[in-house]
Amino acid sequence: MKIETSEKLKKLPPYLFIEIDRKKKEAIERGADIISLGVGDPDMPTPKHIVEAGQKALAKPQNHQYPFGAGMLSFRKAVAGWYKKKFNVDLNPDNEVCALIGSKEGIGHMHLAFVNPGDVVLIPEPGYPVYNTGTIFTDGIPYFMPLLEKNGFLPDLDAIPEDVAKKAKIIFVNYPNNPTAAIAPKEFYVKLIQFAKKYNIIVAYDNAYSEIYYDENEKTMSFLEFEGAKEVGVEFHSLSKTYNMTGWRLGWVCGNKDIVAAIAKVKDNYDSGVFQAVQEAGITALTSSQECVEEMRKMYKARRDALCDGLNALGWNVTKPKASFYVWAKVPKGYKSSEVVAKLLDECAIVCTPGNGMGKSGEGYVRFALTVPVPRIKEALARIKNCKF
Ligand SMILES: *Cc1c(COP(=O)(O)O)cnc(C)c1O
Repeated sequence: MKIETSEKLKKLPPYLFIEIDRKKKEAIERGADIISLGVGDPDMPTPKHIVEAGQKALAKPQNHQYPFGAGMLSFRKAVAGWYKKKFNVDLNPDNEVCALIGSKEGIGHMHLAFVNPGDVVLIPEPGYPVYNTGTIFTDGIPYFMPLLEKNGFLPDLDAIPEDVAKKAKIIFVNYPNNPTAAIAPKEFYVKLIQFAKKYNIIVAYDNAYSEIYYDENEKTMSFLEFEGAKEVGVEFHSLSKTYNMTGWRLGWVCGNKDIVAAIAKVKDNYDSGVFQAVQEAGITALTSSQECVEEMRKMYKARRDALCDGLNALGWNVTKPKASFYVWAKVPKGYKSSEVVAKLLDECAIVCTPGNGMGKSGEGYVRFALTVPVPRIKEALARIKNCKF
């Protein structure tokens, strides 16, 4: 029998990071000593106290049943408490928070709650691929907002044509940004909320990297800190990057209660909630000492400095990011992103992400994830030095 997939599935490009992972595995099979700066997956284990909380919760029979619903009230309360402490934002745990099986799940499913065929979805590019995947699956029309260095890697909201804005249903926004590592200034949030109100567009703010910043004076923010935010949008959060919990699959969406309820309704019909043992581990992560997060920031900062200083010493032109664990590096003159990625893999056994793989405005850049220890970064730099650009 010939198995024919749907047109929508055919429309999807291969998931970028699965492709990169495949190439990496091929190189490892050839015997290469690969240094992987590709996928944004923390290399460090989940902190011990969180693992132990998960182990205890795993043994409880009441956690072995369908979790259902928007998450345990205790988890939603932990989220609300964390928001209050971190951002001074008030959230009602009863109806303004919904647990997710990782924020990717909620971001991907959100479209089902709001997008009708032909509706426009405003998507930053380069950007996290899932914003567009959900759009394709719902027959929405993606409108890509280029993130350019000359605009501080912010979308130019004034450049969005009036007719597009009028047809738009959702705008995705992500700062600290993957892949450009940019953060957004306060003025941008104010403008974003005005824009959303004017055109009746839901703001979907992806804040997966809020805890990875390097300067106490330029702390990252929550979109929900700004006046009027809760009227127009929600914020997606994840325990993946903050607590090295990518494998656990735990995140949440919070903010506008009608938007949260609509996403929760989709989830009720698609999955049956987040494993409660995982939610209990999440409660421990959010409510216990945040020293592990402080340590993580220090660790990434040392890696960032090693990589950026090292590349600049080799004649690259790299700006140190203020947040996220990515370095968005301009490629050496005369090269395309894909050429640099291929050269680094073939000649240096270094894996990184081509900027244009995350959107066409990423051409001319490669993304390095700071997911290996400093000695390996130094080894990578030594290899790059020996490989002529
Ligand atoms: C890693 C990441 C996420 C979080 O994914 P999870 O599904 O929570 O693991 C969300 N958005 C962006 C931009 C990311 O890079």
